Amino acid sequence: MTSQTSKISAASGSPGRASHPGTPDSEQIRRAPKVLLHDHLDGGLRPGTIVDLARENGYEGLPETDPDKLGVWFREAADSGSLERYLETFAHTCAVMQTRDALFRVAAECAEDLAEDGVVYAEIRYAPEQHLEAGLTLEEVVEAVNDGFREGERRAKANGHRIRVGALLTAMRHAARALEIAELANRYRGPGPQSGVVGFDIAGAEAGFPPTRHLDAFEYLKRENNHFTIHAGEAFGLPSIWQALQWCGADRLGHGVRIIDDIKIADDGTVQLGRLASYVRDKRIPLELCPSSNLQTGAAASYAEHPIGLLRKLHFRATVNTDNRLMSGTSMSREFEHLVETFGYSLDDMQWFTVNAMKSAFIPFDERLAMINDVIKPGYAELKSEWLFRQTASTSGSSKV
Ligand SMILES: [Zn+2]
Repeated sequence: MTSQTSKISAASGSPGRASHPGTPDSEQIRRAPKVLLHDHLDGGLRPGTIVDLARENGYEGLPETDPDKLGVWFREAADSGSLERYLETFAHTCAVMQTRDALFRVAAECAEDLAEDGVVYAEIRYAPEQHLEAGLTLEEVVEAVNDGFREGERRAKANGHRIRVGALLTAMRHAARALEIAELANRYRGPGPQSGVVGFDIAGAEAGFPPTRHLDAFEYLKRENNHFTIHAGEAFGLPSIWQALQWCGADRLGHGVRIIDDIKIADDGTVQLGRLASYVRDKRIPLELCPSSNLQTGAAASYAEHPIGLLRKLHFRATVNTDNRLMSGTSMSREFEHLVETFGYSLDDMQWFTVNAMKSAFIPFDERLAMINDVIKPGYAELKSEWLFRQTASTSGSSKV
């Protein structure tokens, strides 16, 4: 049984790159204000930093000690299709993130790198329980990362960039510390000196570890009026999405890309949404889509076949994200470059994804609105007028010939 049907034109939303007004080039994509909701701290280190930290902390397990070669190794391991090799990449990054100094440096560089890439607001997630091997407490981990983000924001400002970074604390699905981590997220929500954390997440292998294992953590967060997202619907499909929303009460879906399994398109272009897909669209549940990451894990075969194209046409609350910048060799600008190239997206489309993401952030409503009205919309307006100016200049130039 289906609850909604609609019709989409085969051409809508993808009229071809050359003919679409406002198609940005890569330099404009980089300068455009971007918002990132799904990015792992331990998946975004600079290769050179991994090498430095391994040397400083006596970690000898790295497969390469030349930063360039190490960067290639990470991308190839993540691309290999082997889960073991993929997980090994995080074993190395977590191994060098066990001291206050290391966590501070990685967090500061994360904020700097994102700001350099034109990201104006980011929610970065990590699992505090994975950084206790050298004796740090959960609180010390959170404070080191928060301090690092503040330092990165300061350095970005000094370089003429503006960025705000909030932390999401992740609990691992296979472990049994979700309630403890949820309490930690609540304690560091601020205001006051214990602040900087804006929400909670669970991550790790979906199969065999349904989100309902951690119901106590989600129920606790709801009672505390706190926010959370859940990694669901990356590989495991509709049951995982349904549990995350209807049993756990997730505010957002980490990936959620398999919602496509509840959408059918007939040959004449008629689209039928099942009840779950209808619910996700009607309730404006944000989807933290990560196209490049999905290609590496096999959740999509190519950018052209990635469900983001259809989800955008159907006006789901779709957002664009990086997931693991190091493992996927990506950035927010690169994700948008792929989408512009594949679907012919314009600056209007980029703004739509960006406003979607900002609306879905876990900071207070008035602060989200201020980001949209004072930073995002003026940023895109400037780029669009620049684009029109260039078009006019090139048209009047050619008419003289
Ligand atoms: Zn993720």
